[in-house]
Amino acid sequence: MTINNQQYQIQGIPMLDIAKEFGTPVYVYDGQKILDQVESLKSAFSSANLKIKYATKALSNINILKLMKKAGTGVDAVSIEEVHLCLHVGYAPSEIMFTPNCVAFEEIQEAVGLGVMINIDNIPMLEHFGTHYGNTVPVCIRLNPHILAGGNAKISVGHIDSKFGISILQVKHVLKIVEAHTLNVIGLHIHTGSDILDADVFLKGAEILFDAAREFRDLKFLDFGGGFKVGYKEGDITTDMQDVGKKVSAAFKAFCTEYGRELEIWFEPGKFLVSECGYLLVHANVVKSTPASTFIGVDTGLNHLIRPMMYDAYHGVVNISKLDGPERVYTIVGYICETDTIAADRKIKEVKEGDILAIKNAGAYGFSMASNYNSRLRPAEVLVLDGKAHLIRKRETFEDILRHQVDLGI
Ligand SMILES: *Cc1c(COP(=O)(O)O)cnc(C)c1O
Repeated sequence: MTINNQQYQIQGIPMLDIAKEFGTPVYVYDGQKILDQVESLKSAFSSANLKIKYATKALSNINILKLMKKAGTGVDAVSIEEVHLCLHVGYAPSEIMFTPNCVAFEEIQEAVGLGVMINIDNIPMLEHFGTHYGNTVPVCIRLNPHILAGGNAKISVGHIDSKFGISILQVKHVLKIVEAHTLNVIGLHIHTGSDILDADVFLKGAEILFDAAREFRDLKFLDFGGGFKVGYKEGDITTDMQDVGKKVSAAFKAFCTEYGRELEIWFEPGKFLVSECGYLLVHANVVKSTPASTFIGVDTGLNHLIRPMMYDAYHGVVNISKLDGPERVYTIVGYICETDTIAADRKIKEVKEGDILAIKNAGAYGFSMASNYNSRLRPAEVLVLDGKAHLIRKRETFEDILRHQVDLGI
């Protein structure tokens, strides 16, 4: 988002025009920003054999997946439906990593049938896998390194009391199963959480993963998951990708020398690739003063963007209808019938009813977590590519609300 000719723009297109053409609320993604993020990750790890597996769950519109494919990334899918989406857009099975958690074995069997790489997340599943496939299907194992990392308890998944992965303390047990079933383990994986700030956390994870990796002789890759932190507020500290790249590559190279073979280093970023590209454009319906606050009520809510209420996430808000004039302090709230705060006590350019606000960092875990709560329609999605705005998902209609309901005629 840049300011030009007294207008907020994406790739030269005034954002107000996008709001006018497609209506509000609308998710808008800057395709160029996604490509830039992919490039910055690639350049940070240019000395290593890097494979990016975009975390589909962050933003799963098929056009975003196609853009990722064009940019040369693979994908990480956490459900069989995401696997099907990735296959649908043309990903080869070999480019897809399937990292499910607590799914039925049938789902794993289906994924094996589709030919994607399976990342096993618990010991009983590893035993099932061994019984069924022995050494005929290569496999990756998700380990839990027990590092407390991540910006919020709900997005911190690598700690001791987390349901994810096989405890690093159980590696000996894993090895017995691997041996008993002659499993072909070609990858080890950790994902410690989201909003991880610095190289040290990745290095700590790396050291733990290297220790485990020494026990497996046939590895082809080590997967460090996602979790890079991006900027949400002005002046926020963000992951210094060049620094992470330099330090982690060096440690990785040293390990590969010791291991005796050059392995691939995998990452599965979601937020890093798509958070900042996205804006949720909303309409100010009401400006309402109470004795304590001035609220701006907008035509969206936790049904469309649940992160503020679910993770206490900070999302910047800009009044794109007004570039100059005084700022005032507002609390921006949604239209859902429960406490639905999008942003509290924010200084933004004075808002009048009818102004359009842009909620920032709305690319990752925005639309993909949207629901029809309060029987509201989910928004449209627009992708700006090569200086043109394209509708990539139609706004829902009332028919969509009724679509799968069965009328008993009573
Ligand atoms: C969610 C998830 C990611 C992506 O996390 P970000 O914080 O968006 O980078 C990567 N890997 C796995 C297994 C995940 O579940």
